[in-house]
Amino acid sequence: MHVTEHLDRAERTLFSFEIIPPPRGKTVRDIIDIVEQIAHVDPPFIDVTSHMAEAVYEELSDGSIKRRVRKKRPGTISICGIIQNRYGIETVPHLLCAGFTREETEDAIIELNYLGIENVLAIRGDQSNYTKIVRDGRTRNIYAKDLVSQLVDLREANFLENIANSEAINFCVGVGGYPEKHVESPNFKTDLKHLKAKVEAGADYIVTQMFFDNSVFMEYVRKCREAGITVPIIPGLKPIDNVRQLTTLPKHFHISLPDDLVDEITESPKHVKEIGKNWTSKQLAGLMNSGMECIHFYVMNNAAATVEIIKGVG
Ligand code: FAD
Repeated sequence: MHVTEHLDRAERTLFSFEIIPPPRGKTVRDIIDIVEQIAHVDPPFIDVTSHMAEAVYEELSDGSIKRRVRKKRPGTISICGIIQNRYGIETVPHLLCAGFTREETEDAIIELNYLGIENVLAIRGDQSNYTKIVRDGRTRNIYAKDLVSQLVDLREANFLENIANSEAINFCVGVGGYPEKHVESPNFKTDLKHLKAKVEAGADYIVTQMFFDNSVFMEYVRKCREAGITVPIIPGLKPIDNVRQLTTLPKHFHISLPDDLVDEITESPKHVKEIGKNWTSKQLAGLMNSGMECIHFYVMNNAAATVEIIKGVG
């Protein structure tokens, strides 16, 4: 079922989740444990992130440097297949522009379709220290909007090459949105213009980057509506569970943390898990009171706090 159908049919606020594949060399059991914890709160869908390849440099005993290109966290498609077919929970794999040709993306879409997956989140991805070489005759998507267009073309059975009697693939397509503006955008207005272009290209809904101040999100929704963006906007929450995140979250996700939250954790670092949980619980209550149809949790590798928070609101 499409994410948008879940939203349309929701009789109470839905809680969705985002998990990341285990690092190369670990077992799929790690992620299954997280899915089993999440399954207790009846999620309509679970997002699984995707990661592009990185270059790794290794100094050998003779002093030379060996360069290897590898994906640190492979497995997005198969994890989605397991969750969807073993647990009966809808999945939303993330598809990236960066690191993939459009031809590879079409192959991935076909695999997802065969697995019975009907939703994807179309994301550009960030630059890494590896730039994929696009060989002659191959093409790539630059911005998320280009990937949305590729997915929308398939709704009309338009594959990259003309195929006689081809069948349509009808994915529901989500895209990312940034209540505090995307870091590369010169200003908020420009960022909204690009967000609107993704929706006009055919995106069905928006999931936001994590935020820690509900008023920032509410203002974002207001500005989106004013700009003529009418699709559902799903807020993204993340409970802070260690002190390091006071620096890593702003650094990696380009978000800000409210003074009160930072002061509380800094004054009482031993209680960071409790403080983080209480903060997210208050955000959650506020968003539920304002009638959100779905709230998205970035659980990453730790679902316990999120599940407790949700159970706390009944
Ligand atoms: P886009 O929408 O393409 O926008 C990127 C930037 O380009 C913005 O500043 C935008 O304003 C600008 N822009 C857009 N179109 C144009 C244009 N035509 N001309 C000039 N500028 C333009 N990363 C991962 O690696 N894997 C994941 O699984 C993943 N999941 C995510 C899930 C969510 C919900 C979110 C919000 C982010 C996720 N990210 C993920 C991070 C994401 O890859 C980065 O934030 C990335 O920098 C932007 O991705 P985007 O899809 O928002 O890009």
